[in-house]
Amino acid sequence: MALLAVEEVQKSFQGFLALAGVSLKVSQGSFHALVGPNGAGKTTLFNVITGRLTPDRGRVRFREQDITGWPTPKVARLGLAIAFQRAQPFASMTVLEALTLARLGYTGQTFRLFRPLASFAQALDKAQEALGKVGLEAQARRPVGELPLGDLKRLDVAMALVAEPQLLLLDEPLAGLSRAERHRMVAFINDLLRREGMTLLFTEHDTEAVLALADRITVLHQGRVLAEGTPEEIRGNAQVRAAFLGGGA
Ligand code: ADP
Ligand code: MG
Repeated sequence: MALLAVEEVQKSFQGFLALAGVSLKVSQGSFHALVGPNGAGKTTLFNVITGRLTPDRGRVRFREQDITGWPTPKVARLGLAIAFQRAQPFASMTVLEALTLARLGYTGQTFRLFRPLASFAQALDKAQEALGKVGLEAQARRPVGELPLGDLKRLDVAMALVAEPQLLLLDEPLAGLSRAERHRMVAFINDLLRREGMTLLFTEHDTEAVLALADRITVLHQGRVLAEGTPEEIRGNAQVRAAFLGGGA
């Protein structure tokens, strides 16, 4: 049974077809990579899945519910969260404040003027729990803007984890990291999310990282699915090799 099913999704921008009928299934507990060159439509597909964009055609199903066109917070409350440079707008807050606010946001309480103190206390608890999970306890009182990039990326993950998602989306979680930091981040994602029993859908350009993390890979090219399979199948796929690997690798 697929936790997430994307069915024939189409999305165009001013006549440009960014997604030309994409179908994709992510099964419960799997780590699923979405790969492809810049402009393939990966981020657009993530935006459709998380409700930031409404597709022109096609459906998105999550936990057997049709969530097509649902607003992002409602999607998050059903258990689907994305970590993508979430923490940056919170630069002047401390790490713990940013996480607490994120938790209040997910539970729909951010803009309520009079909220019970209990909901603050619960949000703070969840924030502290997420901090512990990503190993940032020592940074709790630091302003977000002062974190080194590696820690900021962990915080991005923590800000999605406070939603207690079943499915986590990561859009290029290793972008901008050094080789050593990429290794640490891959180990971090593997350890944490496997331990949590989470399902992961992620995009990444670093082939080594994709192979280290993914159980399944979908290859997107010019808004279409070029191939789908296990890492071994994708590596052995002649069409994929011709398109991306120049026949080598
Ligand atoms: P990827 O994440 O795979 O690099 P994107 O999904 O960001 O690709 O982009 C796919 C294509 O859609 C690109 O050609 C991009 O320029 C275009 N595109 C994405 N978002 C918009 C937008 N909001 N308006 C116009 N074109 C867009
Ligand atoms: Mg992208």
